[in-house]
Amino acid sequence: MHALFDQRRYLIPFRATLLPQIFTDVLVIGAGVAGLRAAISVAEESKGAADVIVTAKGKLKESNTYWAQGGVAAVLPDAGSDEDCFTSHVKDTMVAGADLCDLPIVKLIVENAPKRIAELVQWGMPFDHVLDGSDHETSRLAVGREGGHSFARILHSDGDATGKRLQMTLEARARACEHVRIFDQCFVLDLITVEGSTPRCVGAITHHPRYGLQVIWAASTILASGGAGQVYRESTNPNVATGDGLAMAYRAGAQVADLAFMQFHPTTFYVAGASRSLITEAVRGEGGRLIDHTGEAFMPKYHELADLAPRDIVSRAILQQMADTNASHVYLDCRHFEPGLFARRFPSIHKHLIDFGVDPEKAPIPIHPSAHYMVGGVWTDEHARSSVQGLYAAGEASCTGLHGANRLASNSLLEGLVMGEVAGRTALELVEAGKSPVPSKIVSDIRLSERSELDLADVRSSLRSVMWRHVGINRQGERLAEVAEMIDFWARYNLDKIFDERAGWEVQNLLLIGALMTRSAMWRRESRGTHYRIDHPLPDEDFKVHDLWQRGSHQPKLTPALGA
Ligand SMILES: Cc1cc2nc3c(=O)[nH]c(=O)nc-3n(C[C@H](O)[C@H](O)[C@H](O)COP(=O)(O)OP(=O)(O)OC[C@H]3O[C@@H](n4cnc5c(N)ncnc54)[C@H](O)[C@@H]3O)c2cc1C
Repeated sequence: MHALFDQRRYLIPFRATLLPQIFTDVLVIGAGVAGLRAAISVAEESKGAADVIVTAKGKLKESNTYWAQGGVAAVLPDAGSDEDCFTSHVKDTMVAGADLCDLPIVKLIVENAPKRIAELVQWGMPFDHVLDGSDHETSRLAVGREGGHSFARILHSDGDATGKRLQMTLEARARACEHVRIFDQCFVLDLITVEGSTPRCVGAITHHPRYGLQVIWAASTILASGGAGQVYRESTNPNVATGDGLAMAYRAGAQVADLAFMQFHPTTFYVAGASRSLITEAVRGEGGRLIDHTGEAFMPKYHELADLAPRDIVSRAILQQMADTNASHVYLDCRHFEPGLFARRFPSIHKHLIDFGVDPEKAPIPIHPSAHYMVGGVWTDEHARSSVQGLYAAGEASCTGLHGANRLASNSLLEGLVMGEVAGRTALELVEAGKSPVPSKIVSDIRLSERSELDLADVRSSLRSVMWRHVGINRQGERLAEVAEMIDFWARYNLDKIFDERAGWEVQNLLLIGALMTRSAMWRRESRGTHYRIDHPLPDEDFKVHDLWQRGSHQPKLTPALGA
């Protein structure tokens, strides 16, 4: 990784005391499930005493949370099978995580699910209920099944609109809390740190199209900025998912971990030119089958769980089948569903397919894998503390050790709910200790570069293509090294520039994320979970560790997985 990535501390030059100043107790960066739940937690735990600011870089509905379809995994006493239990959910999570999950955090998240779901129901979250013989809702919550889960335990809402409903429920609750302010269109560029015996995060520098640059000073900052799917050409993530939070945490000196692991979703709707919209795994849970263009249902030959095998296995099997049959995509076949089931159970997807002229009752759905979920992130402990004092992280931006090397379906909304609550509660430790920052004379001096410029849009799209081709589902050492060189080249002409708008800052962040992911993938000379190295196709005990990287370090710090 080029030294430039570790040189510049901030993206732009500024003098903190000369910018407009805002003060709060807790700053939450991100307004998806993790950020909103964290804000509610601060408000409730402090009984309204603490001020909270929540920022979203675009509109609130531009988040991964809003687009989540399948649902939230939870073992509840009054839903699903009587034989299901926490131990089973823990075991499924650990199996999917390919020996890299940390058991204590898995247990914490699985066992806190009933509490987090019960409060959501109380706040008006309209989870779907089991219907009686006359199609009336009973009091029992409906659950679906997804790949890797031993039982049906996925709660959903409006069929496949779980994320939208969850976002709306949490937003309404957060807005009803005293002293919680939500700033949309507020792009956070960098975390501000002061150097002491250990660096401490004291807030962030932000940009708003109307108000320009501002400094938000905060006793505690919670990073809940979501994932980085946009670093790949094929992605299910909305445009906002450019990994800004991870990039700014790295620049601020926080440890980031397990970045080789990016989960690819096997089934995204494949129509050339259309965005890669997700076809939830729950469709396979309902009996949807993967077939190739000859009609062969090919999954049984790749895994005993066939269509319900873990996502990494299904994604690789699809690529293999596409290569073997010389095809650009395969199909998800739901023609055998009972009439009306697809439209009733997956209304949003059904509408989307019909808009593109595909009726799932009559034709198989063309699909292709896409980048979906960033498994690694800012390394945190079970209290959501990062390695930088005053900085906490939750949700997809964080790496708690829950997912290990691969995320079990529908565990991420649950993680956001549980760890968002934890982060909000923990973040109060500095507020209660009276650690509100006083504005300091923080100065970022950056000299103007004399190097010529590269076209921003071109760099963004070239980076995304090369990441998809060589840091995607199948990886290989030499190709990874070539990608690292290409990213270094783009970085030399991009990281030395000073941009004054979001597009430039996002490309700088994407280049850093691409470089970090590629470095971690090169280092991990084994195959595990979502990370598949053609040149090292098997897991290796020596790599049964989390790899933690920090600005300025050339080798990772290794931490063993706390498995059973
Ligand atoms: C299509 C799709 C379907 C999915 N389905 C499921 C599912 O069924 N079940 C499941 O468990 N998971 C699912 N996932 C994954 C899950 O939705 C996410 O992991 C989860 O919602 C992440 O929540 P979050 O709060 O961490 O981040 P997000 O919901 O992505 O929110 C990130 C927030 O950070 C803000 N932000 C980002 N950068 C900045 C910045 N620079 N400045 C200011 N604000 C910033 C954004 O504006 C946004 O408000 C799905 C994901 C996708 C994309």
